[in-house]
Amino acid sequence: MSEFSAKNDEVYDMLVIGAGPTGLACAIEAKRAGFKAVLIDKGCLCNSLFHYPAHMTFFTTPELLEIGDIPFSSPNQKPNRMEALEYYRKVAEHYALDVRQYETVVSVAGSDGDFIIHTTDRFERRTKHRARKLVIATGYYDLPNYLNIAGEELSKVRHYYHEPHPFFGLDVVVIGGKNSAAIAALDLWRHGAKVTLVHRGPVMHAHVKYWILPDINNRVKNGEITAYFNSSVIEVREDDLTIVTPEGPVTIPNHFVFALTGYHPDFSFIERLGVKLDADNDRCPVCDPATLESNVPGIYLAGVIVAGERTNEIFIENGRFHGKQIADDLKVKLGSPSPAFA
Ligand SMILES: Cc1cc2nc3c(=O)[nH]c(=O)nc-3n(C[C@H](O)[C@H](O)[C@H](O)COP(=O)(O)OP(=O)(O)OC[C@H]3O[C@@H](n4cnc5c(N)ncnc54)[C@H](O)[C@@H]3O)c2cc1C
Repeated sequence: MSEFSAKNDEVYDMLVIGAGPTGLACAIEAKRAGFKAVLIDKGCLCNSLFHYPAHMTFFTTPELLEIGDIPFSSPNQKPNRMEALEYYRKVAEHYALDVRQYETVVSVAGSDGDFIIHTTDRFERRTKHRARKLVIATGYYDLPNYLNIAGEELSKVRHYYHEPHPFFGLDVVVIGGKNSAAIAALDLWRHGAKVTLVHRGPVMHAHVKYWILPDINNRVKNGEITAYFNSSVIEVREDDLTIVTPEGPVTIPNHFVFALTGYHPDFSFIERLGVKLDADNDRCPVCDPATLESNVPGIYLAGVIVAGERTNEIFIENGRFHGKQIADDLKVKLGSPSPAFA
């Protein structure tokens, strides 16, 4: 099919790209204000959380992950991924949110008051939606920060860590010095992998959580996990890899590599919608901090993307409030909600 075909004639007050925790909060607040909202996600509901390590535990206590004033009750001081998925699913259900899953937004036409949002589904079928306002809440977890080294394209090099079982007894290198690398290295070691950690800094990063840091440092001190600091992997091959260390290059046997060196927002997508990035401010999309409306009238930003490359500045804890800011601005700009939803 070459042309985009409309599936319905519905005009939404607000269309949210991305059904992560922030996108859900935006749709809930818009709905509570009486507006008709729809969410579009290229994956499943809370797609990023779904792809986090299978047994991950949040750093945040449950009440700080809450959206829409729905209590998140957990017997754990810090909830795990399964609990969070359960929670956000129930919240979406409670508010009867209109969520279109497995539909990717590829482009946007039109302008404030009448945006036309083009999407494709899993089978490359095209659809268009119409909305008066648009929210970009696309997160940062889809695009890894690549190392750009020889051999990175080998299938044994992974940028996402899920679970340890497949790596039992194997030589695994974890690259990175922050929480994700520390947690993966520990999990792999505890489940029988032979782990080597490679980090370009002199010690683990200062952002590693205070309850994880002594664990990883003690495993390294005891020689249970081999660590190369001030070091970088420069080439990965089928059966081994080479690390440049302060003492010179070292080649070690290797079956798998987890390059956990962070992720970044899809800046080109944001720019394609006409939203400017502030080159002097870590590529933060230009927006009014009070309303979160970008330089393109009618297009709002929400969640972690508001902080540009500083992906550790906005997370669920604080991004969840963006929905209310945007809904307040919708009340001013759109006036009375759609009659059917008022
Ligand atoms: C391992 C790990 C642990 C973490 N622990 C915590 C924690 O304890 N506490 C905390 O507050 N934060 C934590 N975070 C950070 C937090 O998860 C993110 O900041 C949060 O998910 C950001 O929410 P979001 O809604 O902005 O983006 P996301 O949750 O990433 O949602 C974005 C959505 O947009 C969709 N999307 C992207 N592009 C398109 C497109 N073109 N069309 C349609 N859909 C699209 C994606 O599929 C995705 O579902 C953690 C992150 C990681 C990686």
